[in-house]
Amino acid sequence: MFHRLVWMADTIYLDYAATTPVDPAVVEAMVRYMGPDGVFANPSSTTHPPGQKAGAAVEDARQQVAALIKASPDEVLWTSGATESINLAIKGVADARVGQGRHIVTTCLEHSAVLDTCRYLAREGYEITLLRPDSEGLVRARSVKEALRADTILVSVMQVNNETGTITDVEAIGDIVGERGIPFHVDAAQSVARLPVDVSKANADFMSLSGHKMYGPKGVGALYIRGRSHPGIGPQIHGGDQEMGLRAGTLPTHQIVGMGKAAALLTERRNADVQRALELEELLLQRLAGVSRMRINGGGPRAAGIVNVRFECVDNESLMMAVRDEVAMSSGSACTSTHIEPSHVLLGLGLSVDEANTSVRLSLGRFTSSAEVEQAACLIEGAVDELRSLSVEWECVRVGGNDPVEGTIGG
Ligand SMILES: *Cc1c(COP(=O)(O)O)cnc(C)c1O
Repeated sequence: MFHRLVWMADTIYLDYAATTPVDPAVVEAMVRYMGPDGVFANPSSTTHPPGQKAGAAVEDARQQVAALIKASPDEVLWTSGATESINLAIKGVADARVGQGRHIVTTCLEHSAVLDTCRYLAREGYEITLLRPDSEGLVRARSVKEALRADTILVSVMQVNNETGTITDVEAIGDIVGERGIPFHVDAAQSVARLPVDVSKANADFMSLSGHKMYGPKGVGALYIRGRSHPGIGPQIHGGDQEMGLRAGTLPTHQIVGMGKAAALLTERRNADVQRALELEELLLQRLAGVSRMRINGGGPRAAGIVNVRFECVDNESLMMAVRDEVAMSSGSACTSTHIEPSHVLLGLGLSVDEANTSVRLSLGRFTSSAEVEQAACLIEGAVDELRSLSVEWECVRVGGNDPVEGTIGG
């Protein structure tokens, strides 16, 4: 057990896009809402003071999350995470607008929470348009506009891609979708820790957030729903009148307090976090620049702290295995890393299966140190060299010529 703890501490964590550690200030806030001496009462038990206190804490946290995205507190609904928020927004709109059409527009670069929900709806008779990015790796407002139809009932687009960090211009898309009066959902799970987010600027009707991607706990999320009187959506979970009757279930006070505290911390220090992440990312890329035939995947503007790189002739699973005890990283999104399927995002960007299978995602954040970045880069470079020395394929590439490799997206 002791050995294992030491081992854990020694692993350099470069997988912030899969989940962030909970900020110690968040942990401290959360524990006050659990124990027998804490504020543990059911926040819906408004008839007694302990319940009222818990209820007030839930509302304070709602205020904190609302402030982070420039929404009003009554537009923020608690869920168990971004996956549930996404399900509620997409299925909720599909149910509510069933008489108006069955066409949904989204992109092939979305998180599986969006893609699988859309696949489910496709089986129920909905028609899904999956937009592909342009040659620069970006999904643009223009292509969204071309995809809209008279029977389009929803557009769903992610703001920061969890695998490449690429930022989609949701504001431009929101304008076009809004002009047509079509509901617009933004998956902002990766955005709030990395960008200023403003629901009005994005013209979003719905926005999904996740506690554990923003230094809060796992198992809590939020869905922004524009306007109290949004013509709206129906519940997907039935059982009580919590959360405007849209999401039944006892509210997890400690989780909610944690997400609220995490939001307040970000409002305070996101700019400082981003500045640091940019510096660390630059350091990482500088150190990796010495590796030949390395390329950065994903074009366009990128959010700080998510870098997707590929090393020619180096299988990503082998690379991760080689540094398994020293560096934690990802070969795609964590949700698909149990399959040996290449990342759908990288394929969607136009990479070949081979290119996708030689790509790894390195993501860093608030608690990453420059020493860790330097050490990780050094370990990765060593492993790449070693794996290539065993590769017949690499021998051919190496002998075949040193044509210069530009760092671009795609093939
Ligand atoms: C992590 C993530 C989700 C899912 O969030 P959970 O809170 O883990 O359900 C959805 N979208 C994106 C972009 C994510 O990164």
